[in-house]
Amino acid sequence: MIDVLGVFAHPDDLELTVGGTFLKMKSLGYRTGCLDITRGEMGTRGTPEGRAEEAIEAAKILKLDVRENLELPDGHVFVVDEYRTKLVRVLRRLKPKVILTHQIDDPHPDHNHISHLVRESARLASMKNYDGDFGLERIDVPKVAHNIFSRRVIPSFIVDISDFLEEKMDAIKAHKSQFYNPDSDEPETRLTDKNFLDELENRSKYFGSLIGVKAGEPYFVREALNIEDPVKLLTRKMNLYS
Ligand SMILES: [Zn+2]
Repeated sequence: MIDVLGVFAHPDDLELTVGGTFLKMKSLGYRTGCLDITRGEMGTRGTPEGRAEEAIEAAKILKLDVRENLELPDGHVFVVDEYRTKLVRVLRRLKPKVILTHQIDDPHPDHNHISHLVRESARLASMKNYDGDFGLERIDVPKVAHNIFSRRVIPSFIVDISDFLEEKMDAIKAHKSQFYNPDSDEPETRLTDKNFLDELENRSKYFGSLIGVKAGEPYFVREALNIEDPVKLLTRKMNLYS
């Protein structure tokens, strides 16, 4: 059983987008897990085997309880029944309460398709007759929150990750084949540019600044949020000047 599950396309996507939130969830005592959908074999740098080792290393830094790979073909992830069923089986086995995943309409087709695959599979996992013969019981629909990364969307909420920014960056750097490495003779990409790691750190700092803290990670949810105490919510620190 997992409380929070990250479902992302490539072995470094969770680290790049929601690593701080996972570290924070762990510090609050939740069980955390990651399901990588592909092995990242389309990547310009690295091999699937090497990337799998880096993912294990990063999982240790993030203190994940579970990290699995669905091994769908990188660059060819679509919302089709075969893949929905595979994902439903994982969800029924791990029983997450919350799923964090890609942004809807992300420019990378796999990322975008996974955002929809997750939403559909989360719903189907609750229907007892969907894949009912397989022998796994239905679960309550896990709640889905989408990380905001490439598209400009107003966040539904921002998680304060101020205490975890350094460890988040360490988890990203564990993917040695993917980021700045002066000793590598593999082709350069935007991700391997020296400035990319600074850019990522600045992103977290920017979203932190919107809620008056050192660093934050932004999320979008499609559903209205059910709030018990609006006074408590609205009087939390929101920006540097309030
Ligand atoms: Zn990716």
